[in-house]
Amino acid sequence: MKYPLEKSEAQWKEELGEERYHVLREKGTERPHTGAYNLHYEEGTYCCGACSEPLFESNSKFDAHCGWPSFDDSIPGKVKYILDKTHGMIRTEIVCANCGSHLGHLFNDGPTATGQRYCVNSVSVDFKK
Ligand SMILES: [Zn+2]
Repeated sequence: MKYPLEKSEAQWKEELGEERYHVLREKGTERPHTGAYNLHYEEGTYCCGACSEPLFESNSKFDAHCGWPSFDDSIPGKVKYILDKTHGMIRTEIVCANCGSHLGHLFNDGPTATGQRYCVNSVSVDFKK
């Protein structure tokens, strides 16, 4: 798949550092209840940890008690959805529409009006007030 922002994996590795590179580019998952934004409820915008594109607004964030930051919606057009059949499950992977970096997964068991739960790694995003 092609994205507006393309960089070589070597370039990403150098820019992101080991932990971010693993999650964003190798589709890793941070350990639950460890991320900086799991229980973070300030007003602002969560941006891609790789390319800084705004992805989620703080007013769509809710506590899903799953150990990762969860949102019931994304900023329109900023997130892409990919069918993920790894680990013996069928899931929807979510990636940044600008650079293709891995954010987390989307589930249809959200408790709010949208019925959606975007389960996102804290490592994958940067919060901006
Ligand atoms: Zn990005």
